[in-house]
Amino acid sequence: MLGLMQDWPLLIHRIIDHAAKQHGQRQVISRSIEGPMHSISYGEIRQRSMKVAQRLSRDGIRLGDRVATLAWNTWRHLECWYGIAGLGAIYHTVNPRLFEEQIIYIVNHAEDRILFLDLTFVPMIEKIAARIPTVERFIVLTDSAHLPATSLKNAVAYEDWLAECDGDFRWANFDENTAAGLCYTSGTTGNPKGVVYSHRSNVLHAMMLIPKEAFGLSPGDVVMPVVPLFHANSWSLAFSGPMSGSTMVMPGAKLDGASVYDILETQKVSVTAAVPTVWLGLLAYLEQTGKPLSHLKRVFIGGSACPRAMTEKFERNYGVNVIHAWGMTEMSPVGSVCFVKPELGELRDDALYDLKMKQGYAPFMVEMKIANDKGDELPWDGKTFGRLKVKGPAVAKSYFRGEGGQILDEDGWFDTGDVATIDAYGYMQITDRAKDVIKSGGEWISSIDLENLALGHPDVAEAAVIGVAHPKWDERPLLIIVPKPNANPDKDSLLAFMQGKIAKWWMPDDVVFVPDIPHTATGKIQKMELRERFKEYRFPAA
Ligand code: AMP
Repeated sequence: MLGLMQDWPLLIHRIIDHAAKQHGQRQVISRSIEGPMHSISYGEIRQRSMKVAQRLSRDGIRLGDRVATLAWNTWRHLECWYGIAGLGAIYHTVNPRLFEEQIIYIVNHAEDRILFLDLTFVPMIEKIAARIPTVERFIVLTDSAHLPATSLKNAVAYEDWLAECDGDFRWANFDENTAAGLCYTSGTTGNPKGVVYSHRSNVLHAMMLIPKEAFGLSPGDVVMPVVPLFHANSWSLAFSGPMSGSTMVMPGAKLDGASVYDILETQKVSVTAAVPTVWLGLLAYLEQTGKPLSHLKRVFIGGSACPRAMTEKFERNYGVNVIHAWGMTEMSPVGSVCFVKPELGELRDDALYDLKMKQGYAPFMVEMKIANDKGDELPWDGKTFGRLKVKGPAVAKSYFRGEGGQILDEDGWFDTGDVATIDAYGYMQITDRAKDVIKSGGEWISSIDLENLALGHPDVAEAAVIGVAHPKWDERPLLIIVPKPNANPDKDSLLAFMQGKIAKWWMPDDVVFVPDIPHTATGKIQKMELRERFKEYRFPAA
């Protein structure tokens, strides 16, 4: 016997319908690419996204077609997402930080028919336009006054294009499992692979993140996704923000410390989220200027391990609650959030920061386990580490066009490629990417732990640890440091700082100082390139 409840497919446009009905006057405030701040209500966003859908359908876009966006976080980008998905087409977020060849590859692989792009990216796309022939039209996210002369095919200013429609349109109706979004992961080997989100997975994933134990969003919050829409679905905030009725602040193209500070303060942002490198910039700015954070309550940090020194600074110096989160593009992307459960509520100071170093526990709709190489499940004791595997309604089951073949094991688990521990309370801690872990004398050393520790040294701006071949131990850790401006740390002071805080055999065999460390398009340290840079390196004593 089936239940006798209504069939109400979980479709993305229902989110913006809800926001417009229940929170119609609440604002989306953006730093526009043209410069000035811009405000618009959820009611108007809904109207304009319906125009996007109507206008796209006039351009011949149909269910299942891919429409690319190459844009910063602004209200226009948000409207495009809702408009594209509301038509049953697929928004394909292109990460501008990818290499030119990768962008060409993914646009061709996706066969994008239209490309919405910010003014910032016009020169870059003009250069490659001849090599992305599936794109029939380029829509520049601006008005005619700001549209530059361009060689892009059928280029039009978004506002003019939109003005050709009256918005008298009904959202399309289709199955909730219909594809809604496409985001390519920048794998370190091989070509990028497309992760295809459905309406259902996006809606469920947004619902998963609204409660207090995750983002804790409500109509009283002012939420700013600094994490870009092109980085794994902006960690759901483009959906969970409107769904919860929060005011949204979109920071546009300027993500340096001073600009992020300015918008946090002037817009009274209460909740924000981004990768650690963004917060390094903000904290450096705060330290230089001595300014306070007056409104911010919670900051979500993920994408790479959040260094302990960062958590401590935010909490001790600025009274901001840091919540560590983990996930990946294939998981829509959030897989765990480090909310403090009541049984751990007594923890204070160092013990609390120890907990906050962990990536958190899986909310409902994510199942998690650790397993050894044979696939046997390992205990949740906080010590045993193994390959982290996940399941859930917002976890990928395969990549676009079947690239990479079968990605689930026979029991339906997706191997994240991360190595982790899980403790008795369910808190997971990432030890490393499986391929970055340092194998020394048959044991494993976590590069993340060493980097974290080194980052606590007052003269260190950035730290990376890689395994370097060693004649006796197979691999030993090499610590690579970018010093803070005007600081001059030396090897001995760094090693002395780390001494006693980790097992002796984890101590790096050497420390080298470099002016910069390479990052991937999603802000992670590019370990592969570092290994390449240091492939001739030999330990002094080896
Ligand atoms: P991406 O799909 O580009 O977001 O990359 C996902 C990968 O980033 C994960 O598999 C992890 O290796 C890494 N990652 C994400 N969040 C964290 C975190 N909080 N701590 C450590 N690694 C993380």
